[in-house]
Amino acid sequence: MKQIRHFINNKSIDSKDGKIFDSVNPATQTTWAQAALGSKSETDTAVRAARNAFDNGPWPKMTAKERAGFLHKIADLIENNMDELAEIETMDMGKPITQSRGKDLPRTVDNFRFFADYITLSENESFPMSNDYHIYTRYEPVGVVAAISPWNFPIMLASWKVAPALAFGNTVVLKPAEQTPVSCYRLGELAAEAGLPEGVLNIVHGFGPKSVGEYLTTHPDVDLVTFTGESNTGRAIQKAVSSTLKGVSFEMGGKGANIVFDDADMNEAIDWSLRAIFTNAGQVCLAGSRLYVHKNIYEDFLTRFVQKADQMIVGDPTDLKTEIGPLASKEHYNKVAGYLDLASEEKFTIYAGGKGKGWWIKPTILTEVHNEMRVCKEEIFGPIVGIQPFETEAEAIHLANDTRYGLNAMLFTENVRRAHRVAAALRAGTVWVNCFFIRDLRAPFGGFGDSGIGREGGKYSKEFFTEPKAVVMKI
Ligand code: NAD
Repeated sequence: MKQIRHFINNKSIDSKDGKIFDSVNPATQTTWAQAALGSKSETDTAVRAARNAFDNGPWPKMTAKERAGFLHKIADLIENNMDELAEIETMDMGKPITQSRGKDLPRTVDNFRFFADYITLSENESFPMSNDYHIYTRYEPVGVVAAISPWNFPIMLASWKVAPALAFGNTVVLKPAEQTPVSCYRLGELAAEAGLPEGVLNIVHGFGPKSVGEYLTTHPDVDLVTFTGESNTGRAIQKAVSSTLKGVSFEMGGKGANIVFDDADMNEAIDWSLRAIFTNAGQVCLAGSRLYVHKNIYEDFLTRFVQKADQMIVGDPTDLKTEIGPLASKEHYNKVAGYLDLASEEKFTIYAGGKGKGWWIKPTILTEVHNEMRVCKEEIFGPIVGIQPFETEAEAIHLANDTRYGLNAMLFTENVRRAHRVAAALRAGTVWVNCFFIRDLRAPFGGFGDSGIGREGGKYSKEFFTEPKAVVMKI
């Protein structure tokens, strides 16, 4: 059985009280790893290490080029260890190995490389005033960053916080999700192997409320909190940080709308829509879980969509052919399966799919749904999509925007005017037209409404992870 510990000051350490917790492989439903369970004591030790590295260490004072060198070295080491890390993700979380190896790990590498390159190309503004005065800006690191990450893309989403935080000269305490702690622990080891100075990246394992998560968000020596997770957790964290006035960046839940107009390329719309809801067994904040299809093509779309969904290979996530693995934990399986149990009460139809064996849910399509039902309002975070017909463009926009979330939306049409018009009308942080999940790290990423506070990516990450300073000079 794998044993992992905290990683503080480039050293692997146990909890003082010796407490541990299990990480369960969702495919076998057995414990495959055990992690040290952090307490206030380990949280304090990690924050102290990060504080000391920030206040007294070389990291924040290095040139961008020097820091970029470390980030590229970390990326190299992730690349060299990709097979092992991909296997860890699949064991810890249950995602198909093709997803871990083919998508998550390459994107983790990209996150480090992108921010390494970004800082070396970043520019500062200057504001010439008159002959006598001149102002220029400096973007200085903020300090100690607490990064709190979820379990659905464990190392990839952790790196999406850690890479920019480090790139801009901050030091970090990372708390990985308790369901999937192993790959982030390895990230700590690899960062140390890359030569990162002591205390620059620290990892403490534990839970959220009354545990490491809460201790970090209320810690007086933490300057910034970057969190990805559920909207209700975001609410709790916002309350917790309010007394200390830390900066926050929240990437939270979603209930993505996907509109298919009757002039769409049907094959493309079906393929992207399948990917939008069934990738990672629907455990994706961006999942297109509300599908609105024009009434003229509804029956045809439904038949073909269901046919293809039924053909998806549900099974052992270590098998290269598997497209849908189990849900990540028993607790999460029970939550997702609970939504299917609402069928008789809410009066929707489970048109295809349903519960599988173990913690698997088959690709599931619900019909006879409407926006007032819980299955359309709440984030299910599983391979379940509700499909509804619509008649007019205005109705489609209204249905899509009828949510408290606003992370992303998709639309399929061959009409370019409609594409721009509807993209502008949708209240979401990202709108994909005739595609899904295409990302560029320079673009803003984040959500409207309950889906987020702030944006990440390129200059948006720079704004969050730095304190811009104006230097005013009399010449
Ligand atoms: P979660 O909110 O339960 O947990 C996320 C992290 O927060 C974990 O590390 C957890 O231990 C910690 N946490 C929980 N309570 C806390 C508290 N009171 N104080 C401090 N930390 C606390 O989320 P999850 O179940 O791990 O992840 C799934 C959720 O994440 C979904 O809602 C999904 O949409 C969202 N998500 C959003 C994005 C995005 O970019 N917007 C990306 C991935 C996942």
